[in-house]
Amino acid sequence: MIYHCNRCRYDFEASVPPVRCPDCGSRALRRATRAERVEYLQLMKLVAAESWDDAGLRRRAGNAAAEESPSPAREKELPVCSA
Ligand SMILES: [Zn+2]
Repeated sequence: MIYHCNRCRYDFEASVPPVRCPDCGSRALRRATRAERVEYLQLMKLVAAESWDDAGLRRRAGNAAAEESPSPAREKELPVCSA
């Protein structure tokens, strides 16, 4: 079940009806409306996808760096500033 805090608008999941909001401690809780449930689930999906992507990106970035490191990085001749 997903609940909604009327005070801080925090949405959260709980298996038993919560007494207090885990975020702000308020007792002004009610069951989330359909729209709020959808919003909450979409947010959770985004968060899950995001953290997965982050891990994947870090792996890919690490591999790319390892592959590129042996190749010589040619330094371009920089124009000497003769003031
Ligand atoms: Zn709250």
